[in-house]
Amino acid sequence: MLLRTFAISAIRQLGLMELWRSAKRSQISVLTFHGVCSAAELGQASPLKPRLRLDDFAGYIDVLRRHFRLISLTEAVEMLSGYKPLSARSLVLTFDDGYLNNATHVWPILQQFNAPAVFFVPTGFMNGERLFWSDRLDHAVRHLQPDLEVLPVDGIKLPIAGRDRASLTRLFWQARRACLAYGWKQAENAVSAIELYATSRLADCPSEAHWAGFMNWSDIHQMSAQGAEFGSHTVRHIPLGELSAPEIASELEESRSQFERKTGSVCWALAYPRGNCNRQAVEAALVAGYRCGLTTEERPAMRNHSMLMLPRVGLPERSLSQTDLLVRATGLSRVLSDLHFRNDTQTGACT
Ligand SMILES: [Zn+2]
Repeated sequence: MLLRTFAISAIRQLGLMELWRSAKRSQISVLTFHGVCSAAELGQASPLKPRLRLDDFAGYIDVLRRHFRLISLTEAVEMLSGYKPLSARSLVLTFDDGYLNNATHVWPILQQFNAPAVFFVPTGFMNGERLFWSDRLDHAVRHLQPDLEVLPVDGIKLPIAGRDRASLTRLFWQARRACLAYGWKQAENAVSAIELYATSRLADCPSEAHWAGFMNWSDIHQMSAQGAEFGSHTVRHIPLGELSAPEIASELEESRSQFERKTGSVCWALAYPRGNCNRQAVEAALVAGYRCGLTTEERPAMRNHSMLMLPRVGLPERSLSQTDLLVRATGLSRVLSDLHFRNDTQTGACT
């Protein structure tokens, strides 16, 4: 972390950023965001998993629009496919997971800056009846029964060291890892069992919709009419590597047909949940009719990349300096990682 901070400082002071960007004019940066929350909302609910603050997000867009040409995914695909000349210093903004705050908070800011963007939605969550298991776990850990001393996660008993935020945050990540050990498909059942030890369930708290709720088809209609692009994030948001070939095909075909039925628009873009894709997933995406698929491989996109495996750069859910933001957006961060100046936070992954 210290070495990376030193490296970023050196990049700024030596003017290496401009040299790097000039040398990489033929690449397109694709950034991944998820949900954002205002400071007031975070003060009310305070989810244990960090969320990007709205004021930080607005600042990022302001910086990015001054250093990049913000383009739509449609334009990026045309450039990467060779149908249009590559425009230097282009950047695409993408948003995964379909959180309600993408409609209420993110889109108004993007409109203010006239910034195009694409939103990838898991269609099985758009009817308001489901929530991400990780968000349900977050809420449950903050509302555990007061006399509980250990948290059972199937066969594992996690000791509850305290009820302060630091202890609960550690417990959340331990429980999350334990749930993931059962696999993404079984994690929902594991969290349902954990919720029995809590005094409140996220599903019963509409007041927390600002950080855990999803946009609906009406939001999508409205944003589409105003110029937002949308794509599939599958139906159930399960990493495709955990599914059989028929299940993968079903996730990709069903989400595409649901989207097209509800919106009347063609669904041609796909973001793989957690960036997880394999050969079967890519083949199924091709068969289902997707023109592009986005992973979370941390590097800028170039013409030699497969259109169904385009890389994207994620950002950590905390405040970044302008230089750190630009280092990541330009792809220099990957170079630092390759040189063993490791990132301090895992980036690019979904909830
Ligand atoms: Zn996701």
